[in-house]
Amino acid sequence: MPPNSVLMGRSVNSLSNDLEQISILDMQKRKRSHVQENEEEVSQLSRSHSLKSLTESTVKKLTSHEVLVTTSNAIRPIDCALQTYAWGRVGSFSTAARLKASQSDGEFEVDEFTPYAELWVGTHPNGMSTIRNESCSKDNSISLLNYVNGDPKLHCGNEKANNLTYLLKVLSINKVLSIQAHPDKALAEKLHAERPDIYKDGNHKPEMAIAITDNVEGMCGFLPISKIVGNLEKYPELYDVVGREAAEHAKKNMNTPCLRHVYQKLFRSYMEAPTKLVRSSLNSMLRKLRSIHRNELDLTQILMMRLADQFPGDPGIFAPLMLNYIHLKRGEAFFIGANEPHAYVSGEIVECMACSDNVVRAGLTPKLKDIDTLVSMLTYEGIHPKITRGEILDRCTTLYEPPVSDFAVEFITVPSEETYVIRDVQSPAVLLTLSGSATLAQGNVQSLQVGFGSSYFMSANTRATIVAGKEGVTIVRGMSNVYF
Ligand SMILES: [Zn+2]
Repeated sequence: MPPNSVLMGRSVNSLSNDLEQISILDMQKRKRSHVQENEEEVSQLSRSHSLKSLTESTVKKLTSHEVLVTTSNAIRPIDCALQTYAWGRVGSFSTAARLKASQSDGEFEVDEFTPYAELWVGTHPNGMSTIRNESCSKDNSISLLNYVNGDPKLHCGNEKANNLTYLLKVLSINKVLSIQAHPDKALAEKLHAERPDIYKDGNHKPEMAIAITDNVEGMCGFLPISKIVGNLEKYPELYDVVGREAAEHAKKNMNTPCLRHVYQKLFRSYMEAPTKLVRSSLNSMLRKLRSIHRNELDLTQILMMRLADQFPGDPGIFAPLMLNYIHLKRGEAFFIGANEPHAYVSGEIVECMACSDNVVRAGLTPKLKDIDTLVSMLTYEGIHPKITRGEILDRCTTLYEPPVSDFAVEFITVPSEETYVIRDVQSPAVLLTLSGSATLAQGNVQSLQVGFGSSYFMSANTRATIVAGKEGVTIVRGMSNVYF
């Protein structure tokens, strides 16, 4: 009996038995064919790439620690958790819901009146993925975490690791999410120790958003102080909410080199403004905005009116006068570090983050607000987030690499009927098919039919060959940041 069989349970054992064991001879043959695949890959690269992208791919070239694929570390289909938060797109308008429906072979049907917000691919306890096993009933399914723990070294490629360091999601956003920030590691540990009912884990949660539609909107980071001071002059209602003392302090000190105290004073008095004052100021500002012809409103003003429709009376409606309002087209991405205020507004994204669910919220939400923590934790730097289109690694793969070790994301797009090798990385990986179809093969160990919504766990240091169907295929791979 293999050592992992106790944790993996009887059902996976029987699956393992069904799969063909490969002989030593086959292993040697496969090793040779991988070397050939590697050489083909490199020669394709030299044919199709400019000198610049070749240099980039050389820089990103990783040392291969490839291990042979057997029935114990072959790719496993997984079922993902779907979250029905109120801000999600409704029914079939939600890509998260459609991915789930097509992944679950009729076990889940989209309800056209329910909002579907997020599909989670990973091992977070609030939305654990499970290993899909045709021969086992749902009650008998194995969590992805238990599967990984069955043989951590084999699946994670590292003696010390026993879990995924990241969580991959698809977000389908209809209404604005709460204004929020995520703690750094030290603060996360403290919050979790003090209030484990609210802050459910002790991990930090840097995150990256990659647009999969053309109209993604969000707010992130503080505007330059000069712009906020400009808005205090332009909107007397904001001046009233913030209060004379903080507003004048900002005007007077907007040219000082260290602005942290200026931002914090402004943000605290905005967040602590009495509800009655916020309501009357909002009414006055919105009355003025509504009297302006729509064509003459600027983007910030239109956004404030939309937020007012979604969360009437909420102080967060003023947020676009303090935070950067950003727009992403398909394929564009931005990274949100610890302690940066942000809120997604609309559109659909792939989001990857450290494996955590720690959120400190302050507005545009019916959930608990923790204003004291938020005000004291923020970085208060007036910097516009850097928007990137990722880095082209080769003819099929674009890498989105954040400045943290917890996660990285690859978008792998293989054109119609072409073949491509997903190379090995020293990290457990999850795959999610966003469009098209393909066959995913690992030598003679297995061959899987891949379609929209198919999701997989891929053990560390293993490779797989994609043969794209007629319409091509796009697969997103989440993994630890092996480039960090
Ligand atoms: Zn967030």
